Parts: sequence; C-alpha cells; structure tokens
Amino acid sequence: MELSYQSIRTANQAREADEMRTESRRRNLLILIFHHLMEAGYMDAASALEQDTNVCFRRFEVCDNIDLDTVLMEYESYYFIKFQRYPKLTKKLPEPVESRHARSCGKKRVPCTGVQPLPRINSSHRPPSRGGVKKTKPKMVVKDAIKAVGENGGRSSPPEPTEFGLNVSPIIRNGAGEGQMKKGQLIDCRGLIQDASNSLSEPMEPLLKPLSAFIGMNSEMRDLAAVISRDIYLQNPAVRWDDIIGLQAAKRLVKEAVVYPIKYPQLFTGILSPWKGLLLYGPPGTGKTLLAKAVATECNTTFFNISASSIVSKWRGDSEKLVRVLFELARYHAPSTIFLDELESVMSQRGTGGGGEHEGSRRMKTELLVQMDGLARSDDLVFVLAASNLPWELDHAMLRRLEKRIMVGLPSGNARQAMVSHWLPPLSCTGGVELRTELAYEMIAQATEGYSGSDIRLVCKEAAMRP
Ligand code: ADP
Repeated sequence: MELSYQSIRTANQAREADEMRTESRRRNLLILIFHHLMEAGYMDAASALEQDTNVCFRRFEVCDNIDLDTVLMEYESYYFIKFQRYPKLTKKLPEPVESRHARSCGKKRVPCTGVQPLPRINSSHRPPSRGGVKKTKPKMVVKDAIKAVGENGGRSSPPEPTEFGLNVSPIIRNGAGEGQMKKGQLIDCRGLIQDASNSLSEPMEPLLKPLSAFIGMNSEMRDLAAVISRDIYLQNPAVRWDDIIGLQAAKRLVKEAVVYPIKYPQLFTGILSPWKGLLLYGPPGTGKTLLAKAVATECNTTFFNISASSIVSKWRGDSEKLVRVLFELARYHAPSTIFLDELESVMSQRGTGGGGEHEGSRRMKTELLVQMDGLARSDDLVFVLAASNLPWELDHAMLRRLEKRIMVGLPSGNARQAMVSHWLPPLSCTGGVELRTELAYEMIAQATEGYSGSDIRLVCKEAAMRP
C-alpha cells in the first residue's frame, strides 16, 4: 500500500514537472518572439503580442545572449551535421484562386486575416486542435522512424516537409549512423549553394521595413506614414511587361529610364545619372498606368500610387505634410516608385483660375516641387512617374522637373489586332463559360482605328456579353 502510494506520488510529481517545463517552454518562446520583434523594430506587432497573450513581456529579459536568430542558426547547423544539407524552414503555399484573380485585376491586396490570435497563457490552457486543417500526412511515430532507419541501412534521411512547411525531424538516437558528422570531415557546401539558389529563384515579395524604425519624425508624421502605408502603398501591382500589348517604344524608353539604372547603377553616374522624373502623357486608356505598374513589378520597387483624390480631398490641409512624409517614406523604402496618376488634377498651373486657388493646395504644390528638387540632388533610388492626359495644363515648374517625357499614343493596327485576339481568342474559356469566337481580326483592327486600349477592351467585353 505504502509502496503504491509512493509510486503514484512520484508519477504525479514527474507529470507536474513535465507540465511546468512545457508551460515554461511556451512562455519562453513568446518572450523570444517579443524580443525578436522589438529588436527588428516591429513595435506595434510586439505590443499586439503583449495584448493578445495578456503577459507583460517587458518584465522579462532574454539571458545568455540567446535569441530566435541564434536558436534557428543552431538548429540549422545541427541539421546540416545530421543530414548534410540545410533545412527548408518555410515554403510558399499555392495562392487561392480568388486572390490571384483579384491581383490580376489590379486590386489592392487585403491583409491576410487567417492568422488566429495567440492563445492566452494560463495553466489550464491547451493548444487548440487544428480542426479546420485536414492532415494529409500522419505524424511520424518513433516506431515508423526506427523502421525507416532500418530500411535506410542506418542512415537517417531528411524528413519530408509537413503541410505547414516546417521540417519536423524525429530525433533518433543513432550513434553509429552514417549521417552523423565525423570529426575533421569537410562540410560540403553544395547543399548550401543549392538551397540558396533555390530560394533566390523563387520571386519574393519585398518585405516592407517596419515603420517604427522610421525615425526623425514626430507622432503626427508617423500617423501620416501609417496612413500612406495603408492607403497609398500598393504591395504588388502584378503587371508584367508582357501584359502590356504593343507600346514597344514606350516600354523601351521606360526600361532605359528606370529599369536599367536600378539593375546597373555603376553605369549611370555623372551626366548619365538616372532621370528622377518621368512623364507619361497621351490619350486616356492607353496603358500609362499599366506601364508604371510594370516598372514597379519588374524592378521589385516599393510602389506608391497617388491620385488627386488620395492627397487632396482626404487630408485637406494636411496634403503638404503628407507629400513630405510620402517622399521621406519612399526614401526609407528605396528603391521606390512614386506614381502620380492624373497629374493635371494635382499639379495644374498655379495662379490660374482668377486667384480662387485654395491656399492649402498651393502649399501642397510647392512642397511637391521642393521634394522633387530634393530627389534630383540626392542619390536615392526614388523615381517619380507621372501620368497625364492633359500635359498642356501642367504647371511649368513641374514639367521642368519631369525631365523625361514619354508619349504613350493610341495603339497601332497590329497592337489593336493583338488586343482583340487577346481578349477574344478563337476559343476562350471565360469564368467557366466557353466562348467560341470566329472573328475577322484584321478587319476589326482596321475598323477600330482611333480606339484606345481601354476602348477595345470594352468593345470585346460588350461582344462577349451579347450571347
Ligand atoms: P491610362 O493610360 O488612362 O492610365 P490604363 O493604363 O489605366 O490607362 O488602362 C486602362 C485599361 O485599358 C487597362 O486596365 C487595360 O485593361 C486596358 N489597356 C489599355 N492599354 C493597354 C495595353 N497596351 N495593353 C493591355 N491592356 C491595355
């Protein structure tokens, strides 16, 4: 009786100690994450973590110079020694169809909301089961692992990535395994190079630097910066050069003016220093906005999309400050492209209109000119692209600063034909509907002389809607 009581007590104590260790590991992980966020300057995210978990992390300190970076590095070296290659820690999930569609339509990316808030830490908490996610691969249990080792002749093979993209390796005590690093053995870097080139070949979306590191600004400016990041900054315009039909000359000029200076900066110095301001002008609907977006996509620059409505009406009185913060932010996130759409409505000639111009609007225009001058004097990779349908209405001082002007004209006959066959191909499948089109493309191209790209798209849409 005495003995069994003793054994129950011991088992209980062991279980309690185990639970405490798990609890403390969980808490430590959160503290490390908090510390990492603070170090990287993601202050808002760190505060949100504190709020979500209801723990004041500021009361804790990370000891022994440890941080998430070090932990990850050590895990990588452990993995390298064990499997002679570096672990693949994350992988990109296939994009859902709707978001791909939204992006191809040029819609703004909505922030991912699928992330659940972190669970509050308390002793009764158990991690929620992933009810919604169907596991495709069952967890590898020790028995399977031992079997796998047996089949591999003692060599433990790298585990398959799980559906969450994390390589979770079962730890197998395999003292004599071939996979283990021998003393003095040279590390083969091929795996490392392979991994690095694999990750480079995958186009990555640029990480926007945390705003909290945007120093030298007071809180009002920071608020404006947050507004710009939310409303004006466009994460990925997703327009490729090939999406633009025709406009070969305009594409070549834009590439020369913006793309090459970013790719080969050593060539563009002195008199060859890149153009700071570019004006795309021509009739409406000819692809000026598409060209600007293609620059941002192909060069992977941070893209700020400004229109008259976003800077003039929304923050009346604040427009001047907004312009200043916008340029500061563009420098901070360089290389960046500031795209001013419908420039004539932001920068019409000053002093015209019988002196009825709003004081705030005049101040905003002056600020824009001053900021563009500042850009011209600096080496920052910030490009101002402007589009206008009415270039003769632009302020002369602004025109002077837009050094390079590119005419984006109406599409040629060949381009019109390519557009019609792009939007109404001989056999197309539109949203699950099969469209059988038998068109005299050449004849349509002739009949649509004087149409813009946008007009031709509308004609095609109208025709497709008819049946
Ligand atoms: P704007 O010159 O007024 O800025 P946009 O670039 O916004 O014109 O073009 C409006 C729409 O017209 C685009 O979304 C696109 O569907 C179509 N479009 C116009 N020109 C072209 C082109 N060259 N290639 C492909 N689509 C075009």
